[in-house]
Amino acid sequence: MKNKLLPTTVVGSHPKPKWLNHLIVEFEQGNLDKGVMESAFNDSVRAVVKVQELAGLDIFWDGEMRREEMTSYFAENIDGFTVYGPVRVWGNNYYKKPAITGELRYRDEFSLSDYRFLSSLTDRGIKVPLTGPYTIVDWSFNEHYNTKEDAVYALAEVINEELKALVAAGADFIQIDDPAISTHVDELEVAKKSVEIATKGVKAYIGLHICYGDYSKLYPQVLDFPVDQLDFELANKNFEDIKIFREHDFTKDIGFGCVDVHTKRVESVAEIKENITKSFEMVEPKQVYVDPDCGVKLLSPQKAFEKLKNMCDAAEELREEL
Ligand SMILES: [Zn+2]
Repeated sequence: MKNKLLPTTVVGSHPKPKWLNHLIVEFEQGNLDKGVMESAFNDSVRAVVKVQELAGLDIFWDGEMRREEMTSYFAENIDGFTVYGPVRVWGNNYYKKPAITGELRYRDEFSLSDYRFLSSLTDRGIKVPLTGPYTIVDWSFNEHYNTKEDAVYALAEVINEELKALVAAGADFIQIDDPAISTHVDELEVAKKSVEIATKGVKAYIGLHICYGDYSKLYPQVLDFPVDQLDFELANKNFEDIKIFREHDFTKDIGFGCVDVHTKRVESVAEIKENITKSFEMVEPKQVYVDPDCGVKLLSPQKAFEKLKNMCDAAEELREEL
């Protein structure tokens, strides 16, 4: 899958254009037909692909234009979920919290057509990010299964079916997004087993993205997860976590978050080069994938582009020097 040193990629999300957000609201109010909405999504993906080309990325995703957020999108496409109205989560932030109200079963694909559409637009590498079963269940109400574990494992089987379909269609890089792992380190074994079930028989390079947590609570145990790559945010915490990862031999590839997605300040090429170089304190250069800390959807389109472009330029300069 990897054919050059320090391949550059995204974590997943990209800022949605204002016009797309406007059309989504109109669609949800019933003022727009499905065909128009679909072509709007396709156009926004085309724009994201162009932005990623101009930035110089090696491995693309579609910016998650079709996904409202990380949980309800999947829940809406899997039997056994009911998506209730908006729930208040913190402060004045609301999201549509799904509930498990029946047996979780595969209904229809939920990322395969996105993958196919993207691969029709680019010859670059593609990474397909999907929220992990552990995180989806953790962020949902469970009104059906006796235990959380039962729900997680049932959902993992559903995701496994989707991953196999993706690989059959040509996908060779899957990323499981599991931010909830870092908030419940006492359930690390459940999360690990969920990844085992989800990836069983899936012949692809598998990454696991975990952001915003205390990595000292899950490292080195997370090395036992059946994945090829661990993808961490490091820039936001000023690379202090490297010392945690240096305590044990880092036996996986690393997705090295080298650009902070929570600050509008655009890091310079020289600064990002220095950031990427810090990864060599814990792994060999051939183990390093270069990416931002997390999805860039909360940045303005201009800042997102500038950060990605500088990141790719930095990786390119380093490649020439190594
Ligand atoms: Zn993240």
